[in-house]
Amino acid sequence: MMKFNIQKNINLLSYTTIKVGGQTEYFSEPVNISELENILKWANDKNINCQIFGAGSNLLISGNVWKGLFICTKKLKAINLNPETGILEAESGVMLPTISNLLAKNSCKGGEWTIGIPGTVGGAIFMNAGYGDFSISKHLVSVKVIDIQTLNIFNISKKDLTFTYRFSPFQKNKLIILSAKFYFEPGGDKDLITKITKANLKKKTDSQPYHLPSFGSVFKNPDNYYAGKLIEESGLKGFKVGGAQVSTIHANFIVNHLEASSEEIYQLICLIQEKVQQKKGIFLHPEVRMIGF
Ligand SMILES: Cc1cc2nc3c(=O)[nH]c(=O)nc-3n(C[C@H](O)[C@H](O)[C@H](O)COP(=O)(O)OP(=O)(O)OC[C@H]3O[C@@H](n4cnc5c(N)ncnc54)[C@H](O)[C@@H]3O)c2cc1C
Repeated sequence: MMKFNIQKNINLLSYTTIKVGGQTEYFSEPVNISELENILKWANDKNINCQIFGAGSNLLISGNVWKGLFICTKKLKAINLNPETGILEAESGVMLPTISNLLAKNSCKGGEWTIGIPGTVGGAIFMNAGYGDFSISKHLVSVKVIDIQTLNIFNISKKDLTFTYRFSPFQKNKLIILSAKFYFEPGGDKDLITKITKANLKKKTDSQPYHLPSFGSVFKNPDNYYAGKLIEESGLKGFKVGGAQVSTIHANFIVNHLEASSEEIYQLICLIQEKVQQKKGIFLHPEVRMIGF
């Protein structure tokens, strides 16, 4: 008999870092891959629309009721690192800071930048998350996926995937990331790696509004520009729509200042695009994924 747990009428607000989101008809948080497979089969049989997500740290979900099933991967958190080879295998719900801490503890280099990103492995690969010149795809060896329509499970090697700045092929296909294999350089200086990891976290918390609900950078940086600088130069730092505000610390962040609604945040995103286009002649493309708008 198939075993899985589905809840009904769940509010998604507490599942996103910006702390907004509407109600979903069905919700599930599988604890292992076979439960996830069973859930997908159930949804396929009933023709129910599925939306996968991880830590909800890059998501704006509309305040409307979602007809379908939201599946959260955060309980899929098996992780294994071989400190001799530097090969790390992680299920899709493993958080990036867990990876940076494990790498530092085992003297593996290269993942020090992942510390300040409050997302999962699945979300990070989907987004090709990064910081400065680093990105998650650089460390990737292969990804294990399930096809949401056929339910076939297979591995894709990194060489068959094309990643660019904040883009992965998973944004264009119907595959759910189950787990991934990465390579990090083994045999490094543990104290130095730990020091760099801590310094990276401090750099982020000093320059970004970590104390307030947000979804990180709202817009992608256009070629040769910083979105935050363009927004600031358009006079929008601190600008508010209802409870949504352009952060006074970093203009490419929107913070949920006072119980903002999804719609207020959406309006602020559109307003920023309009003003920056008018004043700077540049269209800002959102990095944040929007659902239900
Ligand atoms: C304070 C703060 C700082 C941040 N700093 C950075 C930064 O420095 N660099 C950076 O790149 N990002 C940053 N972000 C944004 C965000 O953390 C990353 O984009 C992260 O990788 C998203 O992961 P997630 O698990 O939260 O994804 P979610 O927000 O849950 O989902 C994002 C997208 O990925 C898809 N997805 C999630 N899991 C899977 C899966 N298993 N299979 C297929 N698709 C999936 C979802 O459908 C959705 O479209 C920051 C966010 C915050 C709040």
